[in-house]
Amino acid sequence: MSTFAGFDFYRIDDLLSDEEKTIRDTVRDWVEDKVVPIIEKHYLEGTFPMHLAREMGEMGFLGANLTGYGCPGLNNVTYGLICQELERGDSGIRSFCSVQGSLVMYPIWAYGSEDQKNKWLPKLAAGEAIGCFGLTEPDHGSNPSGMLTRAEDKGSHYVLNGAKMWITNGTLADVAVVWAKLDGEIRGFLVERGMQGFTAPEMTGKHSLRASVTSELVFQDVIIPKENILPGVKGLKGPLGCLTNARYGIAWGALGAAQSCLHSANEYAKSRIQFDRPIASFQLVQNKLAWMLREITKGQLLAWRLGRMKDAGTMTHEMVSLAKMNNVDIALQIARVARDVHGANGILAEYPIMRHAANLESVYTYEGTHDIHNLVLGRWLTGVQAFT
Ligand SMILES: Cc1cc2nc3c(=O)[nH]c(=O)nc-3n(C[C@H](O)[C@H](O)[C@H](O)COP(=O)(O)OP(=O)(O)OC[C@H]3O[C@@H](n4cnc5c(N)ncnc54)[C@H](O)[C@@H]3O)c2cc1C
Repeated sequence: MSTFAGFDFYRIDDLLSDEEKTIRDTVRDWVEDKVVPIIEKHYLEGTFPMHLAREMGEMGFLGANLTGYGCPGLNNVTYGLICQELERGDSGIRSFCSVQGSLVMYPIWAYGSEDQKNKWLPKLAAGEAIGCFGLTEPDHGSNPSGMLTRAEDKGSHYVLNGAKMWITNGTLADVAVVWAKLDGEIRGFLVERGMQGFTAPEMTGKHSLRASVTSELVFQDVIIPKENILPGVKGLKGPLGCLTNARYGIAWGALGAAQSCLHSANEYAKSRIQFDRPIASFQLVQNKLAWMLREITKGQLLAWRLGRMKDAGTMTHEMVSLAKMNNVDIALQIARVARDVHGANGILAEYPIMRHAANLESVYTYEGTHDIHNLVLGRWLTGVQAFT
């Protein structure tokens, strides 16, 4: 198969700066060199390639769009391009980067005290410390405001009780950003590895995102020092602000998985002979490939425009909802059609297709399900909220 060179049918490269293109190409080469050769093995074994955490830090992928405290300070389009290239490798690698940067470093950077920022951000940016984000609970997914995890103010400290589920990087994490109710109001707490009463067992049996660690977080009378509360935010807008950033990265990332599927399907179609001709010569097969290119091109324009608006400060969370839901949806459909073009070979680990398809099922659900984003857009259009 020819080396992946990306698809740029509408010359979006003309809309990128030289620095943005250079970084994108550097990440692409890094993925080709470090991720592609090992990812299927990790996926089949259900392990995260832990040695890549430090490398991602050294490469400037972690908290890429944050400034100060050892963070790279890149613009949001560049951050998006990094997510795109990482997810071309695997959604689990991009998830690691999204969680670390957008869901752990961002809340510390935006809502944390100076001491919290100095203590955690340089280590997290370097990949020397790992973080996780605990919002979802066993009985509260799309409706996090119903969360049961509680913190009590005991004067000299807080006491945390409850449980979180489906937490990416949970078992690996040195610090967990945990959202819990304090006097009925959602607050963020930094829960550190080794605190008494805090455990993070890994969840097993996943058929999706297998090269990513997913965990429960359990809190039994965990004593949290007063200085570990995030002082800068109260209420659901705290976790939702983080999710807007992470969803932005997903809107780009899904295009990486989609391009990987189109690349593989296109190459396969040119080399697979049936009825004495390459299957690429059949109109029905070309129709499938052309449809993939069409949807990827539309998704790229959405992501690029969203990124430029994020950098200009005009992006809204509804715009992110539209791009996240659209780009993940088309990526998932593209993975399924690409599997069809590969015939039986499409189910083999030799090709990236089934791995991307299975991963994208999680991406479709996490960070707001497809339908929750539909409801966000419905509310924007009609002024009526239909969540409850
Ligand atoms: C691999 C993986 C990693 C994850 N990582 C993290 C993480 O790091 N941190 C974290 O906090 N969470 C994480 N999550 C959790 C994820 O964010 C939740 O799964 C997601 O928010 C959906 O919640 P749920 O699974 O409980 O589904 P539910 O909320 O139970 O939804 C089930 C179905 O009902 C639909 N539905 C729900 N409410 C409505 C409504 N009002 N109207 C119409 N339809 C509705 C949904 O769209 C969906 O189709 C992860 C999930 C996965 C799979």
